[in-house]
Amino acid sequence: MGRRKVKPARVVYRKLGREQAWGQATIGENTIELDTRLGAKRQLEVLCHEQLHLSFPSLLTEAEVDRAGKELCATLWAQAYRRVLLEPNDKPPRIS
Ligand SMILES: [Zn+2]
Repeated sequence: MGRRKVKPARVVYRKLGREQAWGQATIGENTIELDTRLGAKRQLEVLCHEQLHLSFPSLLTEAEVDRAGKELCATLWAQAYRRVLLEPNDKPPRIS
């Protein structure tokens, strides 16, 4: 029995105006929406935050999700994790 591969959330980038939020998670659809106006670090922070909502629906309070999202982002950022933009048909480079 192999380990099951984790299915990443679908992430949609759009201007979230009416929702009054920088990000949004839809649990049944495993989908995260991110506002296109976020800077790089905030985008990572909001992405972590919304993934926590998907991973632990109703298990964590909003304050806990907020704290964990910020901590995750701070550690990833401090370890120099950054977004790399790829050409449409490129695959991510295989680096350790
Ligand atoms: Zn939230």
